[in-house]
Amino acid sequence: MGRIANQKSTIRLMIGMYCSANHREKASAYRGDKLCGDCARLLEYALTRLDCCPHGEAKPSCRQCKIHCYRPAEREKMRSVMRYAGPRMMFTHPIAAVRHIISELPRRIK
Ligand SMILES: [Zn+2]
Repeated sequence: MGRIANQKSTIRLMIGMYCSANHREKASAYRGDKLCGDCARLLEYALTRLDCCPHGEAKPSCRQCKIHCYRPAEREKMRSVMRYAGPRMMFTHPIAAVRHIISELPRRIK
């Protein structure tokens, strides 16, 4: 799996964790991995940013990247997602690759 694909699946997982824990009542149609409207849009945005990353598969960690590609509103939402899901993900998905990605993402969007 490439870096981009890897990061996409990680982001999808984290937003899913955050949404199910924080927006369950808002998302009345919440089922399985279904996201509420806000989170679905945030995920869509995040995936688009990754698709648009000019570094492609050679992309450095987002922390090291000089391009601030998130808009302020999305960056703020993603910070909340990371704050919630980051530590929980480390615990429930103790995979080296995942841990590595998580360690990179929060710094990038702070
Ligand atoms: Zn949500």
